[in-house]
Amino acid sequence: MKYTNLLPRFIDYVKKDTRSDEESTTVPSTPNQTKFLLALKKEIEDLGLTEVELNPENSYLTATIPATSEDAVKTVGFLSHVDTADFNSVGISPQIIKNYDGKSPIALGETDFNLNTTDFPSLKKYAGQTLVTTDGTTLLGSDDKSGVAAIVTFAEYLMSHPEIKHGKIRLGFGPDEEIGTGADKFDTKGFAADFAYTIDGGPVGQLEYETFNAAALKVSIQGKNIHPGEAKGKMISAIQLAIDFQNHLPEDERADTTDKREGFYQLMNLNGTIEDASFDYIIRDFERSGLEARKANITKIAAEMNSKFDKDRIKIDMYDQYYNMIDVIQDNMEIVELAEQAMKNVGITPDEEPVRGGTDGSKISFMGLPTPNIFAGGENMHGRYEYVALESMEKAVDVLLEIIALNNLNSK
Ligand SMILES: [Zn+2]
Repeated sequence: MKYTNLLPRFIDYVKKDTRSDEESTTVPSTPNQTKFLLALKKEIEDLGLTEVELNPENSYLTATIPATSEDAVKTVGFLSHVDTADFNSVGISPQIIKNYDGKSPIALGETDFNLNTTDFPSLKKYAGQTLVTTDGTTLLGSDDKSGVAAIVTFAEYLMSHPEIKHGKIRLGFGPDEEIGTGADKFDTKGFAADFAYTIDGGPVGQLEYETFNAAALKVSIQGKNIHPGEAKGKMISAIQLAIDFQNHLPEDERADTTDKREGFYQLMNLNGTIEDASFDYIIRDFERSGLEARKANITKIAAEMNSKFDKDRIKIDMYDQYYNMIDVIQDNMEIVELAEQAMKNVGITPDEEPVRGGTDGSKISFMGLPTPNIFAGGENMHGRYEYVALESMEKAVDVLLEIIALNNLNSK
């Protein structure tokens, strides 16, 4: 369907800088996110939503679309995140390309960068559609302003069509998804939905309910610095130990050597001198047992290396980040089927590939609220080549409305 305010709303959102900051320890990580959430609060209050609250503990803005049906209908939640990824987000000046021909390169502002079908074949899918791109100097922030815009437009539609029968609907807009902390303090009880969906990320049709299991670790190595001329048998080079540590890990289990359902260990950075070294890894595996096996392998490598020294020179600080939501969703497959059916009813073929990453829903599902992810339409996320088609965002709104309609039928 066409929704008059969707495009201007999206453009307004993306122009506001809401980049999150991994170095920050505050919630939200950047004050601009609060500014955005306060403006959004006013907007949804003006639409007539009720129970509109910005929670100071977790920086989630939550609201209710009141029920129009007397029947006992399950409460559905829809969630999105307001922060954008780690790429320039100051002065976002989107370009709107109407009726794209599906083949011509799109110049990105005054820069030398362009979107073309050789580098980005996905462009061909969008012939005849309205594309929103960057001007080449920033990201677009379609991840996840597309999701925010779709949810607000959905709410606007329902508020102005009270004849559509539905149960209570809960909305949530959260911070800091891109730095992996936004959902940590999500208040499942306060949100009080029976099930939910995040509206985030990728092209039309994406329906995600399997994610990685994830852990991270910091390795600290203490070396022993001896003058190189007299070092034989005495020097313990922390950098050399770092290289040895990395070499203990299988070459075919790195991020750049795996795909589909394969897991990996990935070295993320490396700082070192002879005296000391520190570096971080992320570990990913679709199976929980696989994640545990990888963690055990790390511990074993460190222990074996340490056994050759006078003391433990290699220290590991390892922690879990999130788990594969399938472990929760498999007991609630009816909510996946509901989204599948909703997509099919509006002419979309669902694409259910597992996500080689995590979503806010991975954490929230383990907090007791099963939360698969539905597409928001974005392409080439997190950089200057990011773009989204207006028609994709419209489809996202269509799917949300259809989920509500089907959920209402299910109650009877
Ligand atoms: Zn996102």
